[in-house]
Amino acid sequence: MATTKVYDSIVLGVTDIGESDLIVTFLTKDSGKIKCIAKGARKSIKRFMNALEPFTHLNAVVRSNARSDLFFLENASVKDGFEAIRTNYNNFVMASLCVELVDFWCKEGQKEQTIHRLLLWYLGSLASGANHILCTLIFKTRLLDLCGFLPSLYRCSQCTSEITDHIVHYNPVSGQIYCKNCRDTKKLYKMGIVALKSLQFWQRQSEDKIFRLKINSSAAEDAWNYLKAVHCNVLEKQPKTYNLIDKIVY
Ligand SMILES: [Zn+2]
Repeated sequence: MATTKVYDSIVLGVTDIGESDLIVTFLTKDSGKIKCIAKGARKSIKRFMNALEPFTHLNAVVRSNARSDLFFLENASVKDGFEAIRTNYNNFVMASLCVELVDFWCKEGQKEQTIHRLLLWYLGSLASGANHILCTLIFKTRLLDLCGFLPSLYRCSQCTSEITDHIVHYNPVSGQIYCKNCRDTKKLYKMGIVALKSLQFWQRQSEDKIFRLKINSSAAEDAWNYLKAVHCNVLEKQPKTYNLIDKIVY
């Protein structure tokens, strides 16, 4: 028997299939990631208006059938289209990167309420004018943490002593950090202590105070390189949006 349900959803991606249909990937609040077939969506613009664009927050009316695991999108009503993201190139690229990361991290049918909430916070912050690099650094720190892959940022992962060095060494595959006494044994990358302290702040701080920490461009670049390496190495793939970002300018 077919059932119809309304999902609070964020569009992660859209792919063409056949002449007129689309497959839309949603991160839903209650059921995690789902892929829906939107019949005729490419021909009938009117039916879905402009709802089926990446990072749109919408209510998706979805039909499913107990005998198969296919989902069909019947209707969609936009809650927030985040227009300020689409009309600014830097915002657009960063948001594209973040939805791609969420798509990679989330498995279909696995509840991801905290990631849904984090992504909505991120899109809302970008759209209301927060710095695109800072927002994205915070988002990527928290996403890694929610996925369980942010290692301890306080102690050397070998000798467990507290990290106080000016330059911190880390393993670009696991993200684990090392003090100056343990660093020689591994093939490690480097970042400044300010970048490490910033990552600690972004992991722990509440949303209402998260933008209080101001960082300089070299700390932003160090933190960016750390997060990019760990996300890509743990996922064993690189989001294609990274090709559009040669160098971050903070
Ligand atoms: Zn150590």
